[in-house]
Amino acid sequence: MKLVILGSGTSTGVPMVGCRCPVCSSSDPHDKRSRTSLLVETKGKNIIVDTSTDLRQQALREGIEHIDAVLFTHSHSDHVNGIDDLRGFHFIHRNIVPCYGDDATMAAIVGRFPYIFKGLEVEGYAPLMEAHSITGRFDLFGCSITPVPLQHGYLMSTGYRFNNSAYLTDCSAIPDSSFPLLDGLELLIIDALRYSPHENHFHIDAALKAVARIRPKRTVLTHLTHEVSHNDSFRLPPGSEFAYDGMTFEL
Ligand SMILES: [Zn+2]
Ligand SMILES: [Zn+2]
Ligand SMILES: [Zn+2]
Repeated sequence: MKLVILGSGTSTGVPMVGCRCPVCSSSDPHDKRSRTSLLVETKGKNIIVDTSTDLRQQALREGIEHIDAVLFTHSHSDHVNGIDDLRGFHFIHRNIVPCYGDDATMAAIVGRFPYIFKGLEVEGYAPLMEAHSITGRFDLFGCSITPVPLQHGYLMSTGYRFNNSAYLTDCSAIPDSSFPLLDGLELLIIDALRYSPHENHFHIDAALKAVARIRPKRTVLTHLTHEVSHNDSFRLPPGSEFAYDGMTFEL
């Protein structure tokens, strides 16, 4: 199984439009962050987590030729608004992509993008996706997938565990009942946003506190804003590092 960080940036992306701060002006390619997303490659199949606003550029950059399933974490726009970029894949493969998320997430996405799920007969637009609600562990292409309920400010989001790796983006707290789902991890990718606290996201210290309870072998902090310079990785405790676009893990 291979995991690729498609995007490591918060909802604005980095650089942020109109900003001339040191990180937005940085020449380090690690400081160029597209909107948060993950690719899971298993047995020749590609699963993506969320359809980020930057999906098209991410797919071109990583040479993705097909998408076989989508897992949605929640319905915030930065995680969903690239959904139309599936159309290019559909022109080639003509497949309807199964997508998965909790009830509230799928209802919100189907409500906002009805033509993606039903098509538009009148204009010859075929449906691109088929929605599935998830409640517990399931298998996709031989990979065991465990949804991990997370608190994300005023709403719930879903993290996902893939065998011994977990991807927990967009969370401000991990419910006690979700910790047992995170035992024995080789790799944890977790929301850490920035240094200063935020209502809807872990900031770096809060993420590290959760990491100390989960005790994965390796930790990668993602969904980063322009407060975070990749160059400051040395400030993190051993075993933790900042995500960057294109970061790849062979598991
Ligand atoms: Zn900036
Ligand atoms: Zn969010
Ligand atoms: Zn987000």
